[in-house]
Amino acid sequence: MIEIVFLGSGGSIPTEKRNHPAIAIRYEGWVLLFDAGEDVQRQFEKAQLGLNKKMAIFVSHVHADHVLGLPGLLLRFSLLGRIKPLSIYGPEELIEYVRVSQSTINLGTTFEAVVHAIGPGEIFSQQDLSVSAFEVDHRGFALGYEIKWARSTGKFLPSKAEKLGVPKGPLWKLLASGESIKLEDGTDISPADVTEPGPESLKIIYSGDSRPCDELKKAARDANILVCEAMYTSEHSILAEERGHSTAAEAANLAKEAGVKLLVLTHYSPRYYDGEEIIGEALPNFANSVLARDLMRIQLSKDGSVVVIHPPVQ
Ligand SMILES: [Zn+2]
Ligand SMILES: [Zn+2]
Repeated sequence: MIEIVFLGSGGSIPTEKRNHPAIAIRYEGWVLLFDAGEDVQRQFEKAQLGLNKKMAIFVSHVHADHVLGLPGLLLRFSLLGRIKPLSIYGPEELIEYVRVSQSTINLGTTFEAVVHAIGPGEIFSQQDLSVSAFEVDHRGFALGYEIKWARSTGKFLPSKAEKLGVPKGPLWKLLASGESIKLEDGTDISPADVTEPGPESLKIIYSGDSRPCDELKKAARDANILVCEAMYTSEHSILAEERGHSTAAEAANLAKEAGVKLLVLTHYSPRYYDGEEIIGEALPNFANSVLARDLMRIQLSKDGSVVVIHPPVQ
């Protein structure tokens, strides 16, 4: 099972109930964090995500509301003695942002933290899960992310392993048990590469900040879950266009056109307080919409079924 935990559903200004953008995806002992808005470290604690988990962080773009929480999270991990290495992926400016944070605010880490400048394409894979980035339409360079969960029958196919040059022996055993491996020439091989193909992959899309655009629609095609920003209602459609954001109606229409199964609306402006106007505008356009709230969880099972777990009303 994959679990999405919404750590922040807020707009550019956090409110009493809603934090800056951040979502965590839990999968097989991993925590994959998408964006790290301010105070994400406290949300991490509230959601009990752990501090020494296998982890990677993916940043959509280097706007303050998406990265202010990153130094705090790294500090927290260090003060609590994290030792596992941590990879951080995002646009090139992220390298300088983390470097300056480390050199000016005494942000030494007890673990290896490496920032990777990335562009569109596949950037991470672990067992049958992979993460790819695609460019979206915001102010400046910004990325959305596709999280793909390959489904195979699990049946190991020696002929495929041989074809890919995997030597017979312990590496075959590892692949057959669901572990990814690296060949001597650096090639990564995942279990999905050497097992009998199953039904189509499951797909979660995270829009980051974006206008509705072809790249987002293409990535969202037949997605099981689209987590999409919906900063405004149509009343502020000019503002949405000027600031590179989407309205709730635009997000809902994109979900409908792309054949998405579940739309989750997030990153909505504090002017909507608890988001009633946002979900109210989305539902007539796309009935299978839900509004993100902080600490809401969504569970996706391998058969494609989805369970939404709402946090207790505060
Ligand atoms: Zn932005
Ligand atoms: Zn934003």
